[in-house]
Amino acid sequence: MEIIQPRRAIPVADEADILVVGGGPAGIAAAVSAARHHAKVLLIERFPSVGGQATNALVNIWHTSDRRKQVIFGIVQELIERCGDGVRRYDDYPARCETHEFDPSAMRIAMHELLDDAGVKTVCHLAAMESIIEDGRIRGVLADTKTGRKAFLGKIVIDATGDGDIAANAGVPFDFGRESDGRVQGMTMMFRLCGLDERLINSDRSIGEKVFEKMKALHAQGKMPPFLDLAARSYLTHARSHGVSYNMTPVAGNPLDEAELTRLSVQARRQVKQYAGFWKQEHPGFAKAEIEQTGFWLGIRESRRIRGLKTLTADMVVHAQKQSDAIGHGFWMVDIHDPKGSGHTTWADQKKDSMPPEGESYHIPLGMCLNEHIPNLAVAGRCASATHEGLASVRVQTHCMVMGQGLGTAAALALDARSEMREVDIPKLQRKLQSDGVYLEDVPAPA
Ligand SMILES: Cc1cc2nc3c(=O)[nH]c(=O)nc-3n(C[C@H](O)[C@H](O)[C@H](O)COP(=O)(O)OP(=O)(O)OC[C@H]3O[C@@H](n4cnc5c(N)ncnc54)[C@H](O)[C@@H]3O)c2cc1C
Repeated sequence: MEIIQPRRAIPVADEADILVVGGGPAGIAAAVSAARHHAKVLLIERFPSVGGQATNALVNIWHTSDRRKQVIFGIVQELIERCGDGVRRYDDYPARCETHEFDPSAMRIAMHELLDDAGVKTVCHLAAMESIIEDGRIRGVLADTKTGRKAFLGKIVIDATGDGDIAANAGVPFDFGRESDGRVQGMTMMFRLCGLDERLINSDRSIGEKVFEKMKALHAQGKMPPFLDLAARSYLTHARSHGVSYNMTPVAGNPLDEAELTRLSVQARRQVKQYAGFWKQEHPGFAKAEIEQTGFWLGIRESRRIRGLKTLTADMVVHAQKQSDAIGHGFWMVDIHDPKGSGHTTWADQKKDSMPPEGESYHIPLGMCLNEHIPNLAVAGRCASATHEGLASVRVQTHCMVMGQGLGTAAALALDARSEMREVDIPKLQRKLQSDGVYLEDVPAPA
């Protein structure tokens, strides 16, 4: 059955030089950097606050180090500093890729303030639905609001929806899922606990080990849902009463199917209840533990990957490949959470050939954000052009923010030069990024 909508006029609610759709880490970095380079920027976000997975899904660990030195700075570093006491740098910095952990509520405020201070107009509570395409260019988007459908226009549109909603609706080709069966990475409902007896958990780690073995046995008997085992073991044996977002409830399915997403969110919240209840019962250190919070949103690692001028592959990641159109560096491993939801992750395998050598990093190219179909539309973040495996590295927030900062700056330069984004003067862009604090080294000359 279909409904035919009558023709109707849609009011234009707002317009800007650069319209950023989606206020996750990538969208924030893109909007702030474009505004700092004198563009009038409008950012629209469907949820009540910006931050994407960082705030609304409680994903709170940032990666800035190639395991020898910090190689991600720029807007990432600014947010770390702006968030103040809300961020903790790990004691072993910079020996691991993971370097900082933050309080999602404090980060939410820091991100909104960063946008405000840069002069970005941010409007939440509206979902962009359709792209307005005229003569092969995008004019803006139609968004659903409480008071009806409205148009938001921009000379350049940056799709930072994570799912590539705008680019896909505009007809830009995309890929979805891994080659073998079309499945995307598993999803996870993050949660937080309070009331732990930290001293008890850490003073006798054997109790946690026993509880962990019991969980594994119950799972093998089909009496407990799957879990990320390395993570569960660590939570049970190394406690901190504050600041930890637990990452251990795997669910699998299609993040673009609203009915399935609803079912999976409920399923994952029930898993959280079951694990927390079990720990409370089995481990004296968790006897008074309560679930403080579950994610407002089920954490999504992968959906559409919009096909771009360049596609990041696992090979480029593990061989630390450099790019003439580099906008920053990445180093995280090809980190795949089982698309069937078993809880297995390649992170747990810690295989050397899944990441660049220690002390090395790959380049994130501007070309993975641009496409050959619509010159004034670009994407940033986890919907950018990568293979299933390449995305498994570049999807982490700091890498998405490097991409956002590079693309936002490129968009502002294109506006200034009255050119397309793909015609931007790359050496000029790279110099601007460096003077804005972005780490950018070893850029090869164009082939
Ligand atoms: C469980 C889990 C654990 C993870 N662990 C880590 C980790 O430890 N460290 C790390 O750095 N990364 C981690 N990641 C990956 C990382 O969080 C994401 O890949 C990253 O947030 C992607 O950033 P983004 O800005 O591209 O997209 P998102 O963070 O997904 O943001 C997209 C934004 O766009 C908005 N939006 C979407 N559609 C529309 C629309 N149609 N109209 C308006 N707004 C829209 C969304 O509401 C959202 O705010 C994890 C991911 C998951 C799921």
